[in-house]
Amino acid sequence: MLYKRSSALFKQAEQVIPGGVNSPVRAFKGVGGTPIFAKSAKGAYVFDEDENRYIDYINSWGPMILGHAFDPVVDAVIEKAKQGTSFGMPTEIETKIAELAVSMVPNIDKIRFVNSGTEACMSAVRLARGFTKKDKIIKFAGCYHGHSDAFLIQAGSGAITFGTPNSPGVTQGTAKDTLLARYNDIEHVKQLIETNKAEIACIIIEPVAGNMGCIPPKNDFLKALRELCDMHNILLVFDEVMTGFRLAKGGAQQLFDINADIVCFGKVIGGGLPVGAFAARNEIMSHLAPLGPVYQAGTLSGNPLAMAAGLAMLTTLNNDTEVFERLAKKTEYLHKGCAETLKKNNIEHTINRVGSMISIHFTADEVVDFETSAKGNNDTFKAFFHGMLNEGVYIAPSAFETWFISDALSYDDLDKTIAAVNKVTQNL
Ligand SMILES: *Cc1c(COP(=O)(O)O)cnc(C)c1O
Repeated sequence: MLYKRSSALFKQAEQVIPGGVNSPVRAFKGVGGTPIFAKSAKGAYVFDEDENRYIDYINSWGPMILGHAFDPVVDAVIEKAKQGTSFGMPTEIETKIAELAVSMVPNIDKIRFVNSGTEACMSAVRLARGFTKKDKIIKFAGCYHGHSDAFLIQAGSGAITFGTPNSPGVTQGTAKDTLLARYNDIEHVKQLIETNKAEIACIIIEPVAGNMGCIPPKNDFLKALRELCDMHNILLVFDEVMTGFRLAKGGAQQLFDINADIVCFGKVIGGGLPVGAFAARNEIMSHLAPLGPVYQAGTLSGNPLAMAAGLAMLTTLNNDTEVFERLAKKTEYLHKGCAETLKKNNIEHTINRVGSMISIHFTADEVVDFETSAKGNNDTFKAFFHGMLNEGVYIAPSAFETWFISDALSYDDLDKTIAAVNKVTQNL
């Protein structure tokens, strides 16, 4: 593959944008080389500035669950744009998407829209603190909840890839209120609660971790968290920015039949436009301004273009009764094909999968938390990444990211991907 134009564009970008990218996960620092510049995308494929075509497993890091440039979303955005792109006044479409989201997701009465997953998680924690009148939070090592200060303590995703899980610029004062637990280790959570008894406002968790590769919750781990929260007057916050409207209509809450107290959304809910949201029962949401004293606001929140894209996306997911099953089947097919191929080629691996989230960890050991995820062989990953790219398959440029399966992927695309895995790993 030739990357001539991408390389030139990257050089230009580096002059005026830090690292040439507006989000570090797009850089190729973790794998070497220079990032590829996207020009367009349709369905399962993304095209770069050098006219190379890739089968896409990033899908804009999650939102494009139905494939790129999905017609109902594109049409909705075009129609809305003609009527004005922002008013700073309430609009009918905000209520429509809120009604639909509330009908799809268990255990929520009201939802507030923001502009990113970061904002959603940041606001959810403020609300949890305001509601419980307590200060501390528990998060899990390797989980990512956006880049607000309280979460940049052993954060996942780009924060691990670029070696700054604890970011400079986060004050000691902030850091001391974030307690860190091991994913899938309920005893550790119990200990933290025991030693900080009356001080914990909420436990925030990715119900299926996706930012240290894909890591499913162990049997009953989420249920045990729910029980601990009930016992100690702690709110359980599910960060469903990745899992929401992806694992099921009602996200991980529905899939695992566990109710959270506050749920955060992003990615799929915006259909590819900048949207986040957080939601809860009336009892909790009534603490939010203008009903209550917990402040949160946004000039472009509930933006009509973003709401139109999100509404078109959620409407399709709500009406298509088989979409989540179809996605899970495709992901299972890919899992089987990759597992057989890697075994045949003697590559140590563990594949984790939940619904349409999947990742290959290059370690023979079970991957259940950040520590075990970090055991993956990064040299193997680097070679794998560049090999796959060269075969026209785009996966995230980091071993700590999940692959997102879109419904636009055909079984032929999956077979081509498995063939690429074979070709790339034959000589590794
Ligand atoms: C992507 C992500 C976020 C952050 O969302 P942004 O829109 O990038 O701010 C938060 N939590 C989880 C679980 C995510 O995957």
